[in-house]
Amino acid sequence: MAKPEFGYDDTPKLPGSKWRVHDGRRPQPRIVTPGSQDGAQHFGTAPSDATVLFDGADLSKWKSVDGGDAEWKVENGYVQVTRTGDIETREHFGDCQLHVEWAAPEEVKGESQGRGNSGVFLLSLYEIQVLDGFDNPTYADGMTGAIYGQFPPLVNACRPPGEWQSYDVIFEAPKWVGDRLHKAATLTVLHNGVLVHHCRPALGPTDHKALPSYQDTSADTGPVRLQDHGDEVRYRNIWVRPLMDYDAAD
Ligand code: MG
Repeated sequence: MAKPEFGYDDTPKLPGSKWRVHDGRRPQPRIVTPGSQDGAQHFGTAPSDATVLFDGADLSKWKSVDGGDAEWKVENGYVQVTRTGDIETREHFGDCQLHVEWAAPEEVKGESQGRGNSGVFLLSLYEIQVLDGFDNPTYADGMTGAIYGQFPPLVNACRPPGEWQSYDVIFEAPKWVGDRLHKAATLTVLHNGVLVHHCRPALGPTDHKALPSYQDTSADTGPVRLQDHGDEVRYRNIWVRPLMDYDAAD
């Protein structure tokens, strides 16, 4: 069989799937045009009980994953990747609702995984891929909104490069009995208001060209991490709401 244009054909088969990790032959998600924005390019403010992680000006809730303050560039109400490494929140979260807005560079450069690549990690381990996936085919499990290396988004709801886009995520952290996995991490994700994952159990923390595995972690809380993949992706209006068990709350 001919080699696929992108992706890999020598990686392990994903459990419960006929596809390999980053399989170049895995079908491309169907394109859906998201509903229009209000022109103002701002998707509104956080709900009253949210923890605002980035308000457009103050990056103090974040640090570099290598230690020290986050050095990404804050300007004009957004923060931009600056090739200084990933950044993560100082605070740790478990089960949560997360809202993130991002924009890929308006000027299109590169292709496939080299175009507007970044990522939003829950618990610093589970990546929802950020990529300029508008008219940019790549392996399906690395597509915009993919649970990277595992599950393509249900559809491709990308806006054109340069436009603001949103992720709304309901994340349930994995549950452990001692070191034994009791329940996988579960993700529900809306991209620009369009459902792209519904209660999707992750196969394990994100990996590259390898099968994910829960072997080496027993984390049930962790920071939100944003990936520096070398592309000048912008973020703004980031907030989180820890999910609480109502009955256990008092
Ligand atoms: Mg990425």
